[in-house]
Amino acid sequence: MIQVEQHGSVTVIRMARAILGRPLYWTAAYWLDGLLIDSGPRCTAHELVRVLDQVPVRQIAVTHSHEDHTGGLAALLARYPSATVYAARQALPQIADPELLQLHRYRRWVWGAPEPVDRVQSLDDVADRLCTPRYTLRAVETPGHSRDHVSYFEPSLRWLFCGDAFVGGRDLACTPEMNLFAAVSSLRTLASLRPERLFPGSGTVCRTPLPELLGKIGTLVQLAADVQKLVAGGHTTDEIVQMLFGGEPPLRWWTFGHFSAAHLVDACRQYNELVPPTGLTLPLDTAEGRRTRRPNSSTRRPSDSGDRAR
Ligand SMILES: [Zn+2]
Repeated sequence: MIQVEQHGSVTVIRMARAILGRPLYWTAAYWLDGLLIDSGPRCTAHELVRVLDQVPVRQIAVTHSHEDHTGGLAALLARYPSATVYAARQALPQIADPELLQLHRYRRWVWGAPEPVDRVQSLDDVADRLCTPRYTLRAVETPGHSRDHVSYFEPSLRWLFCGDAFVGGRDLACTPEMNLFAAVSSLRTLASLRPERLFPGSGTVCRTPLPELLGKIGTLVQLAADVQKLVAGGHTTDEIVQMLFGGEPPLRWWTFGHFSAAHLVDACRQYNELVPPTGLTLPLDTAEGRRTRRPNSSTRRPSDSGDRAR
């Protein structure tokens, strides 16, 4: 199943495997000025090629190596053999050898396993800069959802193509791959860009990105603080899942435990190992700390936006 809509000069292409005419899970590719951002899954690759048939594809840039973002690459390169494909350096091994993704059976069924693609160029080779005739996009590292995740930002229009670095709605589960500290840091990075349009991996274009991004940061930080309080109260992960989420979501069952609320609680615990508890005053913020602080200290300045948001 594939849906196409125009958003200014950006073509939004949403793709999903359909069961009885209903989409299982939308994932998006975006086309602008000869550049395609992400390629969708393998199961919709030929529909994507057909939809793109009227437009040129000179460059393809992927946000990360997950199969629902790279599965269309092989079919696209068969149709557009002269197109250049870009990805973060960390994503190249998984795109060249999708076995490294260690796909669960449900992932193979919902999206299909990508074919290996070895002619992918590292964004390092173009200094994180992608140029089309009309636009220049900058790749920004946004790990957390995966280690190899980047977003693409067009600064003159303040368009932000953020893949899965931002997922709308309330978080009820995640995979073990989630690094919550990196994910929150990446959301802060994205918010600091002051985007005016957000083009996420779901294909639901956001016209008010900043409140959405700040809201997501606040929700995740609050969730980690709630987990911290419950851990301090001696509760187990299962008890915390029950207290915060009312139990595991249905996603837990049909992904055979790959996504779970327990993984999200674990991600919060790991975040809390790095971030000081809410209300804790750091030594450097006290008069004593300021007196003993060396002039060339490498610690962050009090004006760091991350400190304010936290
Ligand atoms: Zn992903």
